[in-house]
Amino acid sequence: MNYNSFMLHNFKNILQLKSLSSQTIEAIEIVGSVLPFKTNNYVVDNLIDWKKAPDDPMFKLTFPQKEMLLNDDYNKMKSVIVSGADKQQIKEAANEIRLRLNPHPAGQLEHNVPMIEGEKLYGMQHKYRETVLFFPSQGQTCHAYCTFCFRWPQFVGMEDLKFASKEAELLVKYVQDNHEVTDVLFTGGDPLIMKTKHLETYIRPLLEAEIPNLRHIRIGTKALGYWPYRFLTDDDARDLLNLFEDVKRAGKHLALMAHFNHPAELSTDAVAEAIKNVLNSGAVIRTQSPVLKHINDSCEVWADMLKKQVSLGCIPYYMFVARNTGAQHYFSIPLIEAWKIFRETYQSVSGICRTLRGPSMSCLPGKVQILGVADVKHERVMTFRMIQGRNPDWAARPFFAKYDEEAIWYTDLQPAFDEEKFFFTDELNEILSHNVIESDFE
Ligand SMILES: *Cc1c(COP(=O)(O)O)cnc(C)c1O
Ligand code: SF4
Repeated sequence: MNYNSFMLHNFKNILQLKSLSSQTIEAIEIVGSVLPFKTNNYVVDNLIDWKKAPDDPMFKLTFPQKEMLLNDDYNKMKSVIVSGADKQQIKEAANEIRLRLNPHPAGQLEHNVPMIEGEKLYGMQHKYRETVLFFPSQGQTCHAYCTFCFRWPQFVGMEDLKFASKEAELLVKYVQDNHEVTDVLFTGGDPLIMKTKHLETYIRPLLEAEIPNLRHIRIGTKALGYWPYRFLTDDDARDLLNLFEDVKRAGKHLALMAHFNHPAELSTDAVAEAIKNVLNSGAVIRTQSPVLKHINDSCEVWADMLKKQVSLGCIPYYMFVARNTGAQHYFSIPLIEAWKIFRETYQSVSGICRTLRGPSMSCLPGKVQILGVADVKHERVMTFRMIQGRNPDWAARPFFAKYDEEAIWYTDLQPAFDEEKFFFTDELNEILSHNVIESDFE
């Protein structure tokens, strides 16, 4: 199968062929000029149920929806486009809206940036002790874009990702120098958008350096969901699987951190074959997804997804909470709702699927998990803990917030029991004061 991507300029005829209404198509064009849009022939032909579009969840995961922009922004953008504005004018109008959608362009990569010999290593993040994130420069796009994506600014050319030219060498040096690092997580975008010959230039030096503290190499990817041919029929699919085998041969554990948002992505013959090939290479596949309104906000969908994953040989890993960026108002559900979905899902699957952790917010202090609701001495509270903390000592300590049915993000929470702050608040401020923080959002 050959990869064909569809962008804004060539999607229209497809949608017309699929008999979508002109209003739906217009909305896609308007919202798609602000938020990124890209899909491909596999997603369009195999994952979207066109009989159900525009209500189909895979359709909503791929095609921008009218409600993803606030009304005023939508109308503004519409009037610009209808007036026959040129590209530059459309871009300016779009950027004005984008800036209000919390893109945190520099900030996000600014405050977890590691250093070597006084120099900042852009293209890397080191927030949790054991794990370094690495953003290879050619891996900062995807086979298709998810409408909820929190990395959206980089796909519309807003995020100024800077990379040193000798990135692979610096990565090796950093992992060698920092003995507490056991994991390197390649992320993006999608690193598996890269040709194998490029991916190799990052992974082989790590293997050849024989770094004793490096134990796990992880690759965050949506390729199994959006382009399984990456592991099947692409020119360099075999080379990719050979590279995976070599990681194993070098004594390192290789994990694909696979993003699946809906059971439809696990239902084709191609994905089943691709998973088989990856597992045969000795890698393991761990799965993750946010819980998203309109896409997967029910226990039935999650339970179905987990069961399919496990029967194909994948290990459920994270249920995330939708981040506070882009179209958060469209996708987010209250933390309490997310917890209910988690709980009902957990209860409806066997222990072998209960490796799922969450719901977890990746936010400023760490990965904050909502554990549930409890009544403690006449006060109804929400219970949390950190799965990861900016200070490793914060992990797995329970803490409590006032019951709030509307809270959708940790910044909405107030400490319970009339406390003034959470146990980590002072120390977090102390840690952050050492860095230039441009936004308080991540
Ligand atoms: C999620 C995450 C990791 C990995 O955390 P695990 O719990 O080990 O999977 C590492 N760094 C950052 C910044 C993360 O958000
Ligand atoms: S695959 Fe991941 S990085 Fe790419 S658009 Fe989807 S969520 Fe974003």
